[in-house]
Amino acid sequence: MISIKSEREISLLEEAGNIVYKTHCYLKPFIKAGITTKELDKLGEDFIRQCGATPSFKGYDGFPAAICTSVNQEVVHGIPSNRKLKNGDIITLDIGACFKGYHGDSAWTYAVGEVDDSKKYLMEHTEKSLFVGLNEIKPGKRIGDIGAAIEEYATSHKLGVIKELVGHGVGTDVHEEPDVPNYGKRGTGPILKEGMVIAVEPMLTLGSPEICILDDDWTIETEDYSLSAHYEHTVVVTKDGYKILTGGKNG
Ligand code: MG
Ligand code: MG
Repeated sequence: MISIKSEREISLLEEAGNIVYKTHCYLKPFIKAGITTKELDKLGEDFIRQCGATPSFKGYDGFPAAICTSVNQEVVHGIPSNRKLKNGDIITLDIGACFKGYHGDSAWTYAVGEVDDSKKYLMEHTEKSLFVGLNEIKPGKRIGDIGAAIEEYATSHKLGVIKELVGHGVGTDVHEEPDVPNYGKRGTGPILKEGMVIAVEPMLTLGSPEICILDDDWTIETEDYSLSAHYEHTVVVTKDGYKILTGGKNG
């Protein structure tokens, strides 16, 4: 069942989303060579808690940290560690916050210092693909329209689309129905209705889109070690389009 949120629920989802956005803004200046991903996680968790929220991912299926930190060829679910960021790395922070029982979920890929042109290209076009997907959203359109638009954009820019990982509904659970794939066929899938809340999150690669899971049972990376970027916003379907709940442009 895909739930339709009430006005009250949407305002709580908006507060949760705003905390996620503010956490991204707070962490961005700390993303520099020498900081460890564990230090970023601690700063993020403290900030989320100061906002009166809890980190959605901490303990989720046993995930051991507050935020996911995925570096370079890592796609998602990177576990914060003593690894120090280096100049030229890219890092995705995937942040979820739960406020009064409602979640926000947003991921963003950041450059550490100066990155090369291929990383800039990957980041620029993965971010654009998110907005290409979002711009499909309005009542009457279908989930497949979002995925088709992202896939067309990615393919035309020679980027790989990861198929095994998808966006999702958001509400009192951080992952609800429906799945929101980053590929698909126009005119297929569930119909979008005013009041639905979904997270759209393209994960694109410079090389093959094949992925594998590391021995830590969490970190997912590309099989060919090609770089991966990931941009995600939680949005609500409105009368004539959509509204982003996790803030404006973070990057
Ligand atoms: Mg996320
Ligand atoms: Mg998500």
